[in-house]
Amino acid sequence: MQIMVNSTTLSLIKGDITQEETDAIVNAANARLAGGGGVDGAIHRAGGPKIMEECRKIGGCPAGSAVITTGGNLKAKYVIHTVGPIYRDGRHDEPKLLANAYKSSLEIAVKKGIKTIAFPSISTGAYGYPINEAAETALKTAIDFIKSHKMPSLVRFVLFSDRDLEIYEKTLERLIKEERSGVSDEASKSCYFKKTP
Ligand code: ADP
Repeated sequence: MQIMVNSTTLSLIKGDITQEETDAIVNAANARLAGGGGVDGAIHRAGGPKIMEECRKIGGCPAGSAVITTGGNLKAKYVIHTVGPIYRDGRHDEPKLLANAYKSSLEIAVKKGIKTIAFPSISTGAYGYPINEAAETALKTAIDFIKSHKMPSLVRFVLFSDRDLEIYEKTLERLIKEERSGVSDEASKSCYFKKTP
């Protein structure tokens, strides 16, 4: 599924983020930037030891923040490492920290002049964030950022399973509907979100 938000393409696909050819891919890292399982392990395996070397020099990254390294052997030129919250019960700032993880990744991208970026579903694996809620926060945060910054030109979510993709798609459909019903003037209703093939 692919939509336009102003002049930015927002796309949802199923795939392996290590194979993405966007300028940057985002890693769901841990606060020590120490590597691990899930998407983090896959990125370091595919990207080679140079990424870890750079991570060691940086030292760490608190939840909600992001840092950048080169992409090593990946097709992507950069890896933006961000740390999502470990989900406890939803009352420990989890939504805010998750939104901040997306926001700080996008801020680094814009600062670096990165035009195309791919995200995994941050925190919904080992960190246990319920995916329906995480999808809403992820997509809302990306849309708000795109609207206010008019950048980057492509934001892609690379989901790892059919189920995850379906949840992100349903959530995006709902957000579009809500957005349309909240906009009163007809012109912006029809041009805000335009589905592309
Ligand atoms: P976290 O610790 O932030 O929860 P995980 O890596 O455990 O991070 O999981 C985040 C999401 O990334 C999960 O939905 C998982 O299925 C997905 N994932 C794992 N490997 C890949 C990959 N190669 N490409 C894209 N997504 C992946």
